[in-house]
Amino acid sequence: MASYRELLQQIREEIEEIGAPQARELVEEGEAAVVDVRERDEWEEGHIPRAVHIPRGNLESRIEGAVADKSRAVLLYCSGGNRSAFAAKTLEELGYENVLSLAGGFTDWKRNGLPFELPRALDEAKRRRYSRHLLIPEVGEEGQLKLLDSRVLLIGAGGLGSPASLYLAAAGVGTLGIVDDDVVDETNLQRQIVHSTERLGESKAESAKRTIEALNPDVNVKVFQERLTAENVDRILGEGWDVIVDGADNFPTRYLLNDASVWHGIPVVHGSIYRFEGQTTVFKPHEGPCYRCLFPQPPPPELAPSCAEGGVLGVLPGVIGSLQANEALKLSLGIGEPLVGRLLMFDALAGSFTEISLRRDPDCPVCGENPTITDYIDYVEFCQGGRTHVTP
Ligand SMILES: [Zn+2]
Repeated sequence: MASYRELLQQIREEIEEIGAPQARELVEEGEAAVVDVRERDEWEEGHIPRAVHIPRGNLESRIEGAVADKSRAVLLYCSGGNRSAFAAKTLEELGYENVLSLAGGFTDWKRNGLPFELPRALDEAKRRRYSRHLLIPEVGEEGQLKLLDSRVLLIGAGGLGSPASLYLAAAGVGTLGIVDDDVVDETNLQRQIVHSTERLGESKAESAKRTIEALNPDVNVKVFQERLTAENVDRILGEGWDVIVDGADNFPTRYLLNDASVWHGIPVVHGSIYRFEGQTTVFKPHEGPCYRCLFPQPPPPELAPSCAEGGVLGVLPGVIGSLQANEALKLSLGIGEPLVGRLLMFDALAGSFTEISLRRDPDCPVCGENPTITDYIDYVEFCQGGRTHVTP
């Protein structure tokens, strides 16, 4: 039976090792995938630029996700060059054709005065709070840091804005903007779960802010206690948002927001609800249709639906607003297939979803090749709270 020293010696003879200066050339020319096999606490104290972190214990299970092409050169390193030597042997056994181990490891790299990076990392409290995200490879620590850097603007803190804001806040979206000039009243509480009975008469935006801050103090909430208008839309959107969640559900805001989002280049997650039906889609400027590609102009007031308040099953905005939060998280993380050019419809009575494709209109007055609308239009508030469904 070989001792550790003997085994290490034997492995060293079987693998290829390179020194720090040579490794640096490989790293700078991008000719090798660089894998750090140390433990998390070591990684957090600094690592070689462009390296990916796969602790030795996870190497076999995670290397193919990080380096799919087995003919690509892989440079492995640890702190002193021993763990990476064993790791190199393992990769060769897995079929990697060109594996190198950094002799002297990260210690020698630093001793040579070569550049290294300090990673951004979640602290212990955040690692616990977002542990169920960290367990998903598509999110992980990098994704969680991305969410904490994300900025999502919610238009409306009502039925759709309630679940959307709560889930986005719980997920750790770092900055949430809330635009709402309304106050909480009794008829809201049947579905607007971000508010409560004790908040009756308070500003909805402020009430939502208090609930969100109690849920997750990591979230910075920016309140806009105003209604979106042609006068303020550039100022509000100009603060820089990655995604807008539209929970306004009225024509004037919908058209104004559409035009502004196309001009500011910000994707809008649209949602609307009526009685037992809800729908959602993503309007991503110039990649998919915008709202005006589907409906170039609002209907004339005499053809608009009744201006009586529309009834809605209390849970319906919970379903649609949650789907909107899902789209906003996907867009922020850059994962999955956002609902661009796809309208997802939900029928609460049937308990069924239907999807239809939506096409861009090359003659769209806003996002088309020869736009005819180039300035904001404030449409008359002819049917606030009525249905603005995309489908007839
Ligand atoms: Zn368009």
